[in-house]
Amino acid sequence: MVFVSVPIASVAAQTTQTPASSARIVRIQLKWTHQFQFAGFYAALEQGYFREAGLDVRLLPGGPHIDPAQVVVGGGAEFGIGNSSLLINHAWGAPVVAVAAILQHSPFVLAAIPSLDEPKALAGRRLMLEAHSAELQAYLHLAGVDMTQVRLMPHSGDIRDLGHKVDAASAYSSDETYTLLTDKIGHQIFNPRSIGMDFYGDTLFTSARLAAENPDLVRAVREAVIKGWYHALEHPNQAMRLINDKYAPDIDPLKLRYEAEEIRRLMDADVVGIGYMNVKRWDGIAAAFQRAGLIATPVDLAAFLFDAETEPDLGWVYTVLAVGGVFVLVVATVAVQVVRLNRRLRREIEERRRLEQILTHQAMTDPLTGLCNRRHFILRANEELHRARRTGAPLAVLYLDVDHFKIINDKYGHGLGDQVLVTVARACRDALGGEDLLARMGGEEFAAVLPGLDKVAAQMTAERLRRCLGEVVTRSEDGRRITITISIGVATLADDDGDMLTVLDRADRALYQAKTLGRNGSYFI
Ligand code: GH3
Ligand code: MG
Ligand code: MG
Repeated sequence: MVFVSVPIASVAAQTTQTPASSARIVRIQLKWTHQFQFAGFYAALEQGYFREAGLDVRLLPGGPHIDPAQVVVGGGAEFGIGNSSLLINHAWGAPVVAVAAILQHSPFVLAAIPSLDEPKALAGRRLMLEAHSAELQAYLHLAGVDMTQVRLMPHSGDIRDLGHKVDAASAYSSDETYTLLTDKIGHQIFNPRSIGMDFYGDTLFTSARLAAENPDLVRAVREAVIKGWYHALEHPNQAMRLINDKYAPDIDPLKLRYEAEEIRRLMDADVVGIGYMNVKRWDGIAAAFQRAGLIATPVDLAAFLFDAETEPDLGWVYTVLAVGGVFVLVVATVAVQVVRLNRRLRREIEERRRLEQILTHQAMTDPLTGLCNRRHFILRANEELHRARRTGAPLAVLYLDVDHFKIINDKYGHGLGDQVLVTVARACRDALGGEDLLARMGGEEFAAVLPGLDKVAAQMTAERLRRCLGEVVTRSEDGRRITITISIGVATLADDDGDMLTVLDRADRALYQAKTLGRNGSYFI
C-alpha cells in the first residue's frame, strides 16, 4: 500500500452520482485511498442503489492521516469505515455505532523477517505498527509478547522497509503481502487467527446521534452498501475496471486482482451474509481488548451495535391478551412465530438465490482471465448459430493459440506465463470490442465468435488481431519485455454445419495449418 495523502476535497472525493435535487447528501469516510477494499461502495454508486434510496452519496477517500472515527464524530461525514478498534473508540466514549461488518475477518496481520521464530522473539526488535492496529496489540499480548521490550515505531507506510529498517510490521493481507511477494522481500506472516483471535475487518459505522435520530436513513445506507457489495462480488471484473477507470487509474491491475481475491476471502460472503454482525463475536473481541488492557470496563454492546431489525410491536398483543385471555395468547404466539418463520424463510431464499448466482457465474467463467470458459462459450456460440440461421447473416469463428508458449513458461516461470495470458485476454477483448463472444478454451488457446462477418471480413479481423497481439508487451519483474506472437485459424458458418462444434473443428484445423506454415499467421478453412 502506498501512502498518498489525498486531500479530502479532491476530485475523487466528490465522486457522486447525479442526484435528484431532493436527495439527502450522505458522506462516507473511507478508510484508505481508493482500491478494491471499497468496491461495493463504487458498485452501489454506479448501479444507482444509493440514488434509488433517495441518497446522494459522496465517498471521501482516506489516507494515513485521516481517522474515520474522528471524522464521523466531528461531523465531517455521516458514515465511516473502521475496523474492530471502533469498539475501543466506543468504550472510551466516542459516540460511534457499528452498522454492518463488511469484512468478516480482519486483513490485519503481522509481517516479520523470516528469522523471527515466534512473536515472542520480538523482544528487543524493531516493530512498526499502524494506528488502529489495536487488534494486533491484543494479539501480541495474548501471544505473550512483552510490549515494553519491543522497539515500537510508527508505521512508515512502506512495507518494503521490512528487513532493512524494521524486523516486523503490521500489514494488510489484502495488498501489502502482494508488494512483499512481488518485491521478493523475505517474510513470514503471523496471523491472529492462528490463535483463534478472529476480528471483524472493515465495518460500516455511523454516529450514535444519526443512529438514534434517523435509523431509517442508516438502514437505507446499509442496504444499498450491501447490495453494492453483492454486485461487486458477482461482477469482479466490472468492479476492477470501474476502479481502474474512475477511482485509481494508477493501480497495477494484477495487484487489484490479488486484492479482489483476498477481499472476497475475508468477506466470506458464500457463508455469511454481507453486513452480518454477531453479538457473541463482538463480545469475544471486547474480551480480547480487555485482556490486553486496551479497554477498561465492560462494553455496552447494545449501544454499540446498530440493530436495523425492528422487532414486531407486541404491545397490542398484550392488551388483547388482558382482555381476551388464553385463547388470544395462543393465536398471537402463533402469529408471531409465523412472522418470524416467514422472515427467516425469506432470508434463506434470498441467500440461496445469491449463492446460485455466484455459482452460475463461477460455472461460466475462466478464473484466470475472467473470460467465458469453454463450456459456456459453446452454449453461447450455438445461440449465435441459430440467430445467424434465422437472419441469414454470416458468422465467423477465430481460434487463437499463443506460439511457443511453453518457452515463456520455461524461461520466466508459470506465474509470469499466467500474467501473459491475462494480458492476451485483455488485448483480445479490447481489439474485438464488446459485441463479440470471446473465451479461453483452455491453456493458451482462445476462441471468438464474430457475428455478421463473412470470410473476407473474418480474415481481416484475424490479421488485425494478430498484429495487435504482436505489439502487446508484458513485463517481467526484472524489467524484461515479453512479447508474443499468435497463430489464428479462421472458419465461417456453412449451410451444412449442424452445430458450432463443426465450425470450431474447422477453425482448429485451420489453426493447425497456420502453425505448420511457420506460426505468427492466420489460415482459413
Ligand atoms: P505452439 O506454438 O505449437 O502452440 O507451442 P506451445 O509451446 O505454445 O504449445 P504447447 O501446446 O506445447 O504448450 C502449451 C503450454 O501452455 C504448455 C502448458 O504448460 C502451458 N499452459 C497451459 N495452461 C497454462 C496456464 O494456465 N498457465 C500457464 N502459465 N501455462 C499454461
Ligand atoms: Mg496450444
Ligand atoms: Mg501454443
